[in-house]
Amino acid sequence: MVPRLGIKIDVDTLEGFCQGVPALMEVLAHHEVKASFFLALGPDHSGRAIFRLFRQRGFLEKMWRTRAPALYGFKTMCYGTLLPGPKIGLAAPHLPPQLAAAGHEVGLHGYNHVRWHDHLYNLPPAKVAREIDQAQETYTSLMGTPAYSFAAPGWQCSLSSRTILAARNFLYASDTRGAVPYLPAFGDTVTPVLEIPTTLPTLDELLGFHGCRAQDFTSLVLSRLERGAPQVLTIHAEMEGGPFLGEFSRLLARCRERRVEFFRLADWARELLREPASLPVAQVNCQRLPGRAGYVSCQGSPEARPS
Ligand SMILES: [Zn+2]
Repeated sequence: MVPRLGIKIDVDTLEGFCQGVPALMEVLAHHEVKASFFLALGPDHSGRAIFRLFRQRGFLEKMWRTRAPALYGFKTMCYGTLLPGPKIGLAAPHLPPQLAAAGHEVGLHGYNHVRWHDHLYNLPPAKVAREIDQAQETYTSLMGTPAYSFAAPGWQCSLSSRTILAARNFLYASDTRGAVPYLPAFGDTVTPVLEIPTTLPTLDELLGFHGCRAQDFTSLVLSRLERGAPQVLTIHAEMEGGPFLGEFSRLLARCRERRVEFFRLADWARELLREPASLPVAQVNCQRLPGRAGYVSCQGSPEARPS
């Protein structure tokens, strides 16, 4: 069986957008890989993430382990606190069309990444809809057409967010961590938008964990690909498009040597949606993951489809 890998690239910050995205485009072009980019297009309020220090277990330890201040730069750490949060999408409006012209998928990673990540479960549905709609308005102004794919900031989704994605006709979303594509259920309610979960851990989760180095992470990804099932890897424009660009390039080279087939998530979604009746249903559970602060939405065990 040919190993298959989808590269999902989350772009959270102005720096990731303006510097990480062009760097990643170059590396992807060099290895002839098409990927799926998900852009947070609203204000960069990364500085407010500092306040997670006081609220979330594991955040301080993670900041230290991944050397976040060095990684993100002092200015990024001040956006939304000491400095106003600049609008990411408007800072380099030529980039999203360039990504699409290069053959990459371009989807949404929310509007205000920090607000979604920290407050999704407390936002009333109208405010969740506003986050999605503002992102979509910016996307449409940049691209000329609306986005059809969505990846929730911080892998946080809810019945509200999935219901709004369905009402706005999104083709699929990649909001959770899990094993295989599915239809997400929240209690008795099965939501209709296909979910393609991230199946692999991320570099920032494992880096420094029990001495894990970037090259050890590459070996882990390669070993998981040998199992045969398609895998989805989430990378971050701020990490793999920044200080870990060289290691990301090595990962792609080693995948190429092993004849790994790369896919864009949207292409896999269209393939899967040819037979919607075969999609499993699974609950979405809030769980903690090693190396990640706070809770993320995870795929539960498969359930019977409602008749
Ligand atoms: Zn993100």
